[in-house]
Amino acid sequence: MADTKLISKIPEGPLAEKWSKRKAEIRIVSPNNKRKLEVIVVGTGLGGASAAASLGELGYNVKIFCISDSPRRAHSIAAQGGINAAKNYQNDNDSIYRLFYDTIKGGDYRSREANVYRLAEVSASIIDQCVAQGVPFAREYGGYLANRSFGGVQVSRTFYARGQTGQQLLLGAYAALNKEIAAGTVKSYPRHEMLDLVIIDGQAKGIIARNLVTGDIERFGAHAVVLATGGYGNTYFLSTNAMNSNGSAAMQAYRKGAFFANPCFAQIHPTCIPVHGDQQCKLTLMSESLRNDGRIWVPNNMEDVIKLRKHEIKPSQIPEERRDYYLERRYPAFGNLVPRDVASRAAKERCDAGFGVNETGLAVFLDFADAIKRLGHQRVEERYGNLFQMYEKITSSSPWEEPMMIYPAIHYTMGGLWVDYDLQTTIPGLYAIGEANFSDHGGNRLGASALMQGLADGYFILPYTIGDYLSHKFAEPKTDINAPEFAEAEKAVRERIEKIFSVKGTETVDSIHKKLGHIMWEYVGMARNEAGLKKAIEEIGALRKEFWKTVRVPGTNEEFNQELEKALRLVDFFDIGELMARDALHRRESCGGHFREEMQTEEGETKRDDENFMYVGAWEYKGEGKEPELHKEPLKYENIKIATRNYKD
Ligand SMILES: Cc1cc2nc3c(=O)[nH]c(=O)nc-3n(C[C@H](O)[C@H](O)[C@H](O)COP(=O)(O)OP(=O)(O)OC[C@H]3O[C@@H](n4cnc5c(N)ncnc54)[C@H](O)[C@@H]3O)c2cc1C
Repeated sequence: MADTKLISKIPEGPLAEKWSKRKAEIRIVSPNNKRKLEVIVVGTGLGGASAAASLGELGYNVKIFCISDSPRRAHSIAAQGGINAAKNYQNDNDSIYRLFYDTIKGGDYRSREANVYRLAEVSASIIDQCVAQGVPFAREYGGYLANRSFGGVQVSRTFYARGQTGQQLLLGAYAALNKEIAAGTVKSYPRHEMLDLVIIDGQAKGIIARNLVTGDIERFGAHAVVLATGGYGNTYFLSTNAMNSNGSAAMQAYRKGAFFANPCFAQIHPTCIPVHGDQQCKLTLMSESLRNDGRIWVPNNMEDVIKLRKHEIKPSQIPEERRDYYLERRYPAFGNLVPRDVASRAAKERCDAGFGVNETGLAVFLDFADAIKRLGHQRVEERYGNLFQMYEKITSSSPWEEPMMIYPAIHYTMGGLWVDYDLQTTIPGLYAIGEANFSDHGGNRLGASALMQGLADGYFILPYTIGDYLSHKFAEPKTDINAPEFAEAEKAVRERIEKIFSVKGTETVDSIHKKLGHIMWEYVGMARNEAGLKKAIEEIGALRKEFWKTVRVPGTNEEFNQELEKALRLVDFFDIGELMARDALHRRESCGGHFREEMQTEEGETKRDDENFMYVGAWEYKGEGKEPELHKEPLKYENIKIATRNYKD
């Protein structure tokens, strides 16, 4: 029986016609009425910037907020490898259906068919839109846009701009946004952090934000609110995410009634520069695109492993017959291009078996020697030059001479705010887009699909679907920010800030966050089990108490105070971490990035339980200190055959 609180609003009819049908049903707001309507967009990454620019161009009054000093510096700028689209430019038999199929399979059959099909359907338009904006995608000699392959697929559908795809796409969206800012349809509030959501009569009507430069606590009202605030990977302290990435806005919405879906689905990326010490606060990704030509291996004997660790030999001195190209061995059909969850677990398996190649034993090789021989220096330089340079700057080792060393790290979160087909949360008038929603990636996101989803949401889906809600609102007056609900929310924010300053302990925010990161990585990381997850919930609870006794935040609220910002976010990371562990504990199956040790095949592969867990798990907040309630949205597969994922043959 479907949960009455989770109405997914998936249109009836054949899969390929659902989106057209929904668009035809959506009520349109006329241009003169759009001018009367206000929309708040929180976040200026690819999701938020594209949505705000599109809504502004449509004629709505938009206010856009971000933490950084310029919208252009959102975390999306870090994306390296590329963006998928079903254009079939390579004539390799790609299609909308194949992109849909790969995404559902890659996500281990835990995402909604209708949403994923729509994503594949609009993917081609994203590329056209971005080309029109002047995004400098890589091109073939003849002028056509170039493509490369990413993990989990057997076609080449990834469009890219060297290793800076996110930056170039964001510059395109930012230019579109600036046009609207200049036209007056969008007002930009950089260095403003949302600290609460305001609900009036059960509908999202505004936000409370802190001006990060002056410390002023300000009220902003609107007819609808869109959260494009990114993912919560930094719960783990060490991740590939930008330092400012956080899950606070999603948690504020959760506490006000928005359900949080599949929180335990976090992605671990196989190709990151290994952790090198305990003073580190950030991990660096080496793009998945490198797996197009790089070969992953470890020695097949302990003798070489020991010599490598003692620096007695170089990896390049180990002959072919003493190497184990374990992905090619275990997954011949996909080889080094298996999906991220599979590649990460395989690296862990080799390192757990003792074959890790650096001093910590937590690294494998990514080797370009064959590619350099096959393609020549110039072509490899063209494809990966900036990534090689970045690797060398960080590690002082040149990938031209010796293989890179890599290890899995937290990278992306598939879970997020539950949204219906219109991208609306369980709070009317509150929408979530981009990485902030749970949507399309199921238990594991395929590479180059996050940029596609963020831009699909922002350019092509939300601007239509939000109109359906707003078409009922144009007669309503502007939201009154003097309403008691705003005063109450502002008071709660001020009290939270005062409470943090009042602790006056001895520990820095980072030192406590690092402890949370250890708990998360140890018990809610690449492998999870019942005992560990219970321990995580207990230890997070204890750490939260420790925070409220020992944290020290210097300075005052009335100034630029990054320690205060971090402390406010850490309070939310505790709650997210706990929710992730709780969700992982209840999901007694292995699926995508969520690997329950109790549920594996003899070969150590994930073992799904479709009978009992083929649903989206959405959590409802029940009050401080109370257990949240789980709601289930069943997943139906009518257009795809459910199977055990197979990347072997
Ligand atoms: C190193 C790296 C490389 C990647 N490479 C690729 C790739 O090649 N291809 C791909 O598809 N994906 C890639 N990804 C994933 C992809 O970059 C992200 O999933 C995507 O950019 C997220 O976009 P977004 O708009 O949802 O959020 P973000 O880009 O994370 O933007 C969040 C925005 O919200 C703002 N914000 C957050 N909280 C608040 C608040 N409380 N108040 C006000 N503002 C707030 C931030 O300031 C920011 O503007 C990569 C990720 C990483 C870490």
